[in-house]
Amino acid sequence: MMYQVNENGYYGEFGGAYVPEILHQCVEELRVNYLNVLESESFRKEYESLLRDYVGRPSPLYLAKRLSEKYGARIYLKREDLNHTGAHKINNTIGQILLARRMGKTRIIAETGAGQHGVATATVCALMNMECIVYMGKTDIERQYPNVERMKMLGATVIPVTSGNMTLKDATNEAIRDWCCHPQDTYYIIGSVVGPHPYPDMVARLQSVISEEIKKQLLEKEGRNYPDYLIACVGGGSNAAGTVYHYLDDERVRIVLGEAGGEGIYSGKSAATIQLGRKGIIHGSRTIVMQNEDGQIEEPYSVSAGLDYPGIGPLHANLYATKRAEVIAVNDDEAIDAAFELTRTEGIIPALESAHALGVLSKMRFKPEDVVVLTLSGRGDKDMQAYALYKPIYPLIDN
Ligand SMILES: *Cc1c(COP(=O)(O)O)cnc(C)c1O
Repeated sequence: MMYQVNENGYYGEFGGAYVPEILHQCVEELRVNYLNVLESESFRKEYESLLRDYVGRPSPLYLAKRLSEKYGARIYLKREDLNHTGAHKINNTIGQILLARRMGKTRIIAETGAGQHGVATATVCALMNMECIVYMGKTDIERQYPNVERMKMLGATVIPVTSGNMTLKDATNEAIRDWCCHPQDTYYIIGSVVGPHPYPDMVARLQSVISEEIKKQLLEKEGRNYPDYLIACVGGGSNAAGTVYHYLDDERVRIVLGEAGGEGIYSGKSAATIQLGRKGIIHGSRTIVMQNEDGQIEEPYSVSAGLDYPGIGPLHANLYATKRAEVIAVNDDEAIDAAFELTRTEGIIPALESAHALGVLSKMRFKPEDVVVLTLSGRGDKDMQAYALYKPIYPLIDN
């Protein structure tokens, strides 16, 4: 259990709960309740039935034959892109809204950057008939308008945030401020394995259904329940956490994380948090943070709006510090090439975020018998505008 959270909320030296006094009670209430609820029979029943009948789980584990031939290994894709709302985020929001109801909360708040977590939260609020307020930076609202329309149609109130750079970090600050004002009735659904303890552990547990399924599916397809490699992209780190959760202590399995290099890690326009960041505190957690010499948080950049977060979950900070995981930066153009490659070899258009996991493949050396599981965290419908702007290096038919 050396990579799991300890009883004080730390992964090695990372994690903890650094919150203002006024929120102490809220975070403590959550900490005291979350495990009892998540492990209760009634929660498990309701959660599992919604994952099956509403989200469409289990998501397939697909042996990508042509991609496998290209890279000389047995490459499986874990198809989170086929989930309701198009990504893994719904696994988490369903779990947290069931918890919120059991804690007697009536008002849901969330932050969103690209809008994917906002949509996943608005979706479960519609499903459960709960009030939903989503904080979103004004810049992101302009960049991600279709998701704003989705949230509104689902009945959410989208509040534009005009402080700072008007992006995810500022939206998160605003959501925390709201929570401070409404500690009694409000539940804050965080969208990744970030924030104060117990959020990172709670979100990792809710996403761990991904690796639970991989184990069963690999056993069926390969006769052994573990792969040689697990590959996932990291923004905050939730799809990666779900992918590796049940393999953390299994050292036969190599973990490779793809982070967003942007225009290159030393270009000044990057979101490669793990490689560029230093130890610091962001949004209630001690982790690795992109910051300048004065400790001011630096604005990250990536073509993928879902990956440009200046922090990283404490679980991943520890996996990196202990060398349990290898982290590879994938630049914008490399991710987009990888997205076109998957589209042309397998007929699957991935989300730009997931394309950063695919971009890892060309930087690896596999043996033909290696079993690789790569999590396709989401589908590419939302990214068509970005893809249309680029010229693929892949011809229409490559033979
Ligand atoms: C939000 C998002 C991500 C990044 O978030 P993680 O918490 O790192 O998983 C990755 N892929 C997709 C499709 C997303 O929507």
